[in-house]
Amino acid sequence: MARSRSKSTARLTRDAERLIALASSMNASGSLTEDHFWEAELTTRIDKCLAQGNDVPLEGALDNLWNSHSPAYDLLVERIEGLSESAVVMQGDRAWEALLVAAPVVAWSRYAIASGPLGHEDADALRVQWQAHVLASDARLAMVPYLYSVDQLPRQFSELRRLTAKLGDAAVSGEIPRVDFGRMPETAQMLSDTRFLVAAVAVPRGMPLFRWQEDGAGHASRAACLEQWIAQARPTFAKLLPGCVFESLLPDAYYMNMRESDRRVRPYAIRAGVAFLESALHVEPAGLRAVVAGVGEERVDEYRIGIAVGADSRVAHGIVWPLFGREDESAQPGPLEDVLAELSQAGVTEVKKLTGLFTPEFCDDCGAPLYPNASGEMLHAELPEEAESPTAHFH
Ligand SMILES: [Zn+2]
Repeated sequence: MARSRSKSTARLTRDAERLIALASSMNASGSLTEDHFWEAELTTRIDKCLAQGNDVPLEGALDNLWNSHSPAYDLLVERIEGLSESAVVMQGDRAWEALLVAAPVVAWSRYAIASGPLGHEDADALRVQWQAHVLASDARLAMVPYLYSVDQLPRQFSELRRLTAKLGDAAVSGEIPRVDFGRMPETAQMLSDTRFLVAAVAVPRGMPLFRWQEDGAGHASRAACLEQWIAQARPTFAKLLPGCVFESLLPDAYYMNMRESDRRVRPYAIRAGVAFLESALHVEPAGLRAVVAGVGEERVDEYRIGIAVGADSRVAHGIVWPLFGREDESAQPGPLEDVLAELSQAGVTEVKKLTGLFTPEFCDDCGAPLYPNASGEMLHAELPEEAESPTAHFH
């Protein structure tokens, strides 16, 4: 779920202008002491917007800093995300800190990847394992009994903060959170995708949230927690995701895991795409040819991979491999090596890398990205007519 910033230059609200000025000042600050001053100002402003459900200044300030390539962007987005995924819950005069956490599962399948409400038994099993293998001993957990797709997660910062506060309350009081699943958007079906469990962890202020923060007997490293979580949660996820190849990531803070799952799902798109062509066209991976092009406006923002059958000039299936944050195509070894390694791992031995930067082109009718063939033309991916699966695209 990469956040794509809008290129529009809408007029900034006064609140947005103030956020930009504060983030820029904090970025230029020369000391921790001065940082604290700007940080407190920023926190107050951001908190006010979140509490009022007013996302316009937050989005406006981020778009502006993003479009001007300002180093203050990273600082502002980190603060806005950090404040959206956290809340303070008061219990009498005792303050609890709540953090919104997510447990992602990246998956691919020839069938639909399931999402939706969990049965009591499955929800209980996952909650108990999450608590036992990942959380500090005094932490409380409230998990939503739902397997989310990206389309079903809150889109706005203020919406996310409301969810954090609601789940934080439920964690502290030990009640089951009430969430209305009736109005959940439909899940767009893809060959490879991520599913998420969402929960809040609450601890008395200053206490550890996770086992890796604890001293003594409760302590376990992140790697050990992940290993336990993978082993213990697997049977339940296998039941929830029939017909899927999947991998559980370490449950951790919400936004960090959104980014982590965006990165980790990319190889699955290649594995799923190749398996899809194998079954639809009865062709071995060695009979496929992949063409890789760097696509972006000013620099490579993503690689687009067009897969053809043998020497066919048409593209049978296309895959997008996005680059995130500071991933740099010129790094050695860089993301291109990862793409090539995954293709080779999937058994596609004939791979052509086109030189130069290609502009991002999309189908005028359906908005689907266009993919390169070996001559460097950007084409609509279309399964050959002899394919068995009826998912080919007609227009
Ligand atoms: Zn189209």
